Amino acid sequence: MPFLKKIFKSSKAIASTIASSEKWKLSKEEWKNKLTPETYYILREEGTERAFSSPLNNEKRKGVFYCAGCNLALFSSETKFDSGTGWPSFWDSIKGSIETKVDFKLIVPRTEYHCSRCGGHQGHVFNDGPLPTGKRYCNNGLALKFVAE
Ligand SMILES: [Zn+2]
Repeated sequence: MPFLKKIFKSSKAIASTIASSEKWKLSKEEWKNKLTPETYYILREEGTERAFSSPLNNEKRKGVFYCAGCNLALFSSETKFDSGTGWPSFWDSIKGSIETKVDFKLIVPRTEYHCSRCGGHQGHVFNDGPLPTGKRYCNNGLALKFVAE
């Protein structure tokens, strides 16, 4: 069993942090130089910021939310909604911008999602969001950069 456990653990660590684009296959050191320690923790180590800590939580202007790791456009302000959870929340992502995987960090399986280009962890997606999708993308504010229209 210890052997199986090891395999499971290592594949889990790899899934969300590997970039799909050659340009964004950076080493740990390269990412550390590029990001603040807080952003590194979220994007590269699947960390979670404190609820209600991000100014983007209350961002209501029109614009686009970009990946803080590689600047890929992930969400439009048109899909943002106030979920009351303390994290910026969206009911849809920009097509092709994110990929998902299941994680078991809280024992109950959750669907983790990350930037499809640099592999940076963004948040978790749940099935209790508003129509038309019914999805709730619960995103770390530090993993995003907002640019108003
Ligand atoms: Zn990215």
